[in-house]
Amino acid sequence: ARTPLIAGNWKLNLDHLQAVALVQKLHWALKDAGHEEGSVDVAVFPPFTDLRSVQTLLDADKIPFLLGAQDLSTHDDGAYTGEISGAFLKRLNVAQVIIGHSERREYHAETDEVVAAKVQAALRHGLVPVICVGETSEDLEKHGASAVPVGQLEKALADVPAGADVVVAYEPVWAIGSGQAATPQQAQEVAAKLREVVAATLGADTAAKTRVLYGGSVKSSNIASFMREPDVDGALVGGASLKVDEFAAIIRFQK
Ligand code: 13P
Repeated sequence: ARTPLIAGNWKLNLDHLQAVALVQKLHWALKDAGHEEGSVDVAVFPPFTDLRSVQTLLDADKIPFLLGAQDLSTHDDGAYTGEISGAFLKRLNVAQVIIGHSERREYHAETDEVVAAKVQAALRHGLVPVICVGETSEDLEKHGASAVPVGQLEKALADVPAGADVVVAYEPVWAIGSGQAATPQQAQEVAAKLREVVAATLGADTAAKTRVLYGGSVKSSNIASFMREPDVDGALVGGASLKVDEFAAIIRFQK
């Protein structure tokens, strides 16, 4: 069985002081609620400038959240102004890194080639890439739900060795920040196809272990319906991950 993964992508929100406050409050909220550690993996993905502060807090207070970054460079070092390398992230105990989020594909012109290179960079440094794929509403009309995300994942995994540790996040672009989530059935259908891509590229054993997340307008009132689907192993949460009680309730979806 795959341990569920509930991941909070903070995007461009919360400076390092606000970050520390939120993580501390979230930890307390889960403790107060009697949340059982280990039943669900929890990950937070703050902006780069927050990582060091959050890492220090997680260490000091033994808070069992995974630390994630929202992006990384394809390069390891050198003359690349403004970039952050996988090596630097690894030194901060970053475990996971989001790659190919639709906002980066759209606003930063990230192509499937760049996404594939970033997946390689993450794996080179022992970081788990959280590979985001998803169709726009235009894609949905023209090609249906799964064609674009399947193609994106095939390209991202093309040169990844069998057995690699990755997470896949299916985020329909039309569902992100819109308040209009996919139905659990839609999410399940695409998640199953994405798992087939993992099986074809990384092997059947790896596919059985790989977590496929759903993202796009996830909240405490709909999380359980997604988690009931056999191929949905968790959620990548945007807006709702910035609210302590709401995110705590999402983490406690079984209750
Ligand atoms: P929302 O949860 O705000 O729709 O954002 C989803 C997302 O993009 C997570 O990466």
